[in-house]
Amino acid sequence: MSDMRLVVVGAAGRMGRALIRAITETPGAVLAGAIERQGSSEIGQDAGILAGLPPGGVKVTDDPLPVFAAAEGVLDFTSPAATTAFASLAAQARIVHVIGTTGLVETDLDKLDAAARHAVLVRSGNMSLGVNLLAALVKRAAAALPDFDIEILEMHHRHKVDAPSGTALLLGEAAAEGRDIDLSSSSVRSRDGHTGARPGGAIGFATLRGGSVVGEHSVILAGPGERIELSHKAEDRAIFANGAVRAALWGRGKKPGHYSMADVLGLAD
Ligand code: NAP
Repeated sequence: MSDMRLVVVGAAGRMGRALIRAITETPGAVLAGAIERQGSSEIGQDAGILAGLPPGGVKVTDDPLPVFAAAEGVLDFTSPAATTAFASLAAQARIVHVIGTTGLVETDLDKLDAAARHAVLVRSGNMSLGVNLLAALVKRAAAALPDFDIEILEMHHRHKVDAPSGTALLLGEAAAEGRDIDLSSSSVRSRDGHTGARPGGAIGFATLRGGSVVGEHSVILAGPGERIELSHKAEDRAIFANGAVRAALWGRGKKPGHYSMADVLGLAD
């Protein structure tokens, strides 16, 4: 089979640059395009140079249509507004759309579901092997310890714009699935002032921001007299980028649908 032709949208972003490097280093994948928003100072720049690599001949452009038409997959770690727009273009082009963007709300997810009727879409709040395995462990622990309080603590770099992180929510969903409850009606997203006692069965979130932290998450299960902490520390954005490339290669030739990283990694049950 020929190498899979992949496009990076948001190519000048922190993840965009890591994705260009991951594609370049992965056998079976080849960089077919790099997209940035209109007006970006990086338009016309060589994508290899942008990612700290030797020039590769792919120039950054702001016109996704012809690039998507000549590609087989798009890797997208941008913003909710950009991702929903790229989803309809990827569906029109019938190419695999791998989405790492976080902060998507219900109406965004509805648009992605509509796009997934026509194309393979793989989306995860965290594309790393470690976090997806952690989610499977959290689901199991939450089910095994129904009386323990669950708190999810995360820390990210100072530039992150959404909270809780997509990964914290992914871990919260795993805990809620383990308990057979609905996360949105059971979560406590912030605490301030006289909050009263902790509601039984709640899943709590706490957010720290600062410095250059790539991403750290702990799921704490607190019971009477003992506590379990399950943690993951991301040290390099390459883990997310490599996962995204793996997801694209996995999605090649699959039936249209909205898949998760757990499907890609064979962790879904
Ligand atoms: P970032 O450095 O701000 O990169 C986002 C890039 O997308 C920027 O270059 C931005 O350009 C560009 N962009 C925005 N709208 C666009 C459009 N309409 N067309 C083309 N490009 C557009 O952010 P980041 O740290 O890379 O993170 C990006 C997203 O990935 C966030 O949602 C983050 O939470 C998520 N993330 C997910 C994972 C995972 O494993 N799922 C891991 C890490 C990060 P401008 O700067 O001009 O706006």
